[in-house]
Amino acid sequence: MQVRWQLAQVGPQALVAAGRLRKALSGLLLGAALCASAQAQTTTPAANAQPEGASKIVQNAGWHFKKQAVAAANPLATEAGYAMLTAGGSAVDAAIAVQMVLSLVEPQSSGIGGGAFLVHFDGKNVRAYDGRETAPAQAGPDLFLGADGKPLAMKQAIVGGRAVGIPGALRMLAMAHTAHGKLPWAFLFAPAIRLARDGFAVSPRLAALLAGETALQKDPVAAQYFYDAQGRPWPAGHLLRNPELAAVLQRIATEGPDALMTGEVAQAMVNAVRQHPSNPGLLQLSDLAAYRPLLRQPLCTNYRVAPKTYRLCGMPPPSSGMLTIASILGTLDFTPAASLSLTGGQPGADWLHLYAEASRLAFADRAAYVADPAFTPAPSGDWLSLVQPAYLQARAAAITPQGPAMPAVRAGTPGPAAQTPLGWAPMPAQTEHGTSHISVLDRWGHAVAMTTTIEDAFGARLMVNRGKGLAGGFLLNNQLTDFSFSPSGADGKPVANRVQPGKRPRSSMAPTLVFDADSGALQLSGGSPGGAFIIHFTAKTLYGVLRWGLSPQAAIDLPNFGPMEGITFLEKDRFTPSTVAALRDRGHQVLEMPLTSGLQVIARDAAGWAGGADGRREGLVLGD
Ligand code: GLU
Repeated sequence: MQVRWQLAQVGPQALVAAGRLRKALSGLLLGAALCASAQAQTTTPAANAQPEGASKIVQNAGWHFKKQAVAAANPLATEAGYAMLTAGGSAVDAAIAVQMVLSLVEPQSSGIGGGAFLVHFDGKNVRAYDGRETAPAQAGPDLFLGADGKPLAMKQAIVGGRAVGIPGALRMLAMAHTAHGKLPWAFLFAPAIRLARDGFAVSPRLAALLAGETALQKDPVAAQYFYDAQGRPWPAGHLLRNPELAAVLQRIATEGPDALMTGEVAQAMVNAVRQHPSNPGLLQLSDLAAYRPLLRQPLCTNYRVAPKTYRLCGMPPPSSGMLTIASILGTLDFTPAASLSLTGGQPGADWLHLYAEASRLAFADRAAYVADPAFTPAPSGDWLSLVQPAYLQARAAAITPQGPAMPAVRAGTPGPAAQTPLGWAPMPAQTEHGTSHISVLDRWGHAVAMTTTIEDAFGARLMVNRGKGLAGGFLLNNQLTDFSFSPSGADGKPVANRVQPGKRPRSSMAPTLVFDADSGALQLSGGSPGGAFIIHFTAKTLYGVLRWGLSPQAAIDLPNFGPMEGITFLEKDRFTPSTVAALRDRGHQVLEMPLTSGLQVIARDAAGWAGGADGRREGLVLGD
């Protein structure tokens, strides 16, 4: 891997135009700052302290395989997954080993204290495993309202126990393992336990994230684990041991997920959440014991790229990921987008305009309708009503191909109006970030796409430790901040995605499997972190591979873009001034800034399989 280009620092003035969005999107900026390389740290020491700091992107050449492959966000995690594949393991076996190592080496993004969605193909059927966190039984719609009745500031909500949801990733993985595992459960934990016990080298990205982090050090367990005696965060390359996590993982390996969700570890979680000094939460032992992962029907839609028809499959609600991607791609089909190829290796202004408009329509529906289906019925009784061609065609009629951009965008009325349970207020956009994506293909041609998260970088900044004198532990999620802080809109209507006891917060995660619709053959497994931008990052990559015929790596490397809250974001220093000017001429408010995706993709190509990992983070693909 070699340095391809070094993004210039983003001046604070660039953000003034988006003052309102600055808070909402601080996660993306922070993510970019924290991607700063060791080199950037030495040349621009201040960069890590501010969200506008420099970012490094490395060039990945892409990978090629014949039989099996695993793609993950950290080389040690990828190695653990590949070791399982070579030991005769299934895609699910590999994904479990990857997740356990990620808990240790990429603690900022995912782990046993968080939740995940896993989409699985067993050669015939696609299944969607839902390990999303749930709200505690004692939580209600006012969870994120302050004493004045107003929504809390995001940062106030994130740090502490308030936003900790019941972690679902581990029980979900156990459920998937029961159905699709080939290796013994305990075997899958060996790489993570060894690395936790013997130590692992802190990665440049973890070091940079730690250097830019302020809240984590206030947690006494985290302060002792992530920082030296002088309170300095460990630098890249430092050998970090986590004996507490090794012990917890050993128990889970031997006893199964109940070792996490009941008994002394569960008690330690409850203590960390309820005894937080300034922002306690409502987690109880009974919440943990009662948590159940769900097996769902995947959400699948056809995507025609003549002469082929692809079938895109992903998570249904509570994730908005697949639904919104399908809405964007489906809406684009009713615009001239398909006739527009890349110009100079990049999407041009004409195409970007159409993409932005289609996305704005899709996101308006997302804000109005998508929430946990156990609490919120689908419009017209079927989530697919939001992506029916006739509905999307009617929606697309609002787009003017040559501009100007639509002045305002509202949710539509899919299906017969009488059956559409309107009456929800749209949910305002909120910050989301701190996630990882895993894709695996095994020797049987079975596949996993799994996106896994503790929500914010380092989650709730609460590190769980049983108090037995072992350093380290694991971080708890702050996933409940994916609920709407406001339970109702200005007009008093309830927000579909408001907090309710036992409810799963709406997600943007989009682990995706793509098939040839005619033959049923698997074509691609992929996904990304990035909060609500997951939808744009994944849509871009699918479009690049399926429509523009790019390799997974080339599609991942395309510059990132996407509208959010009325602003059209473009990845900093990746688009020509004429593209930016042409979008502004059409009435788009354009803001260029780092957009730190973490895409991982495995896709069929003429010679077998190709892998791609996002050079904006530390991903690696291994296989044979
Ligand atoms: N919590 C977010 C979600 O579930 C993901 C956050 C991220 O990608 O960083 O949609």
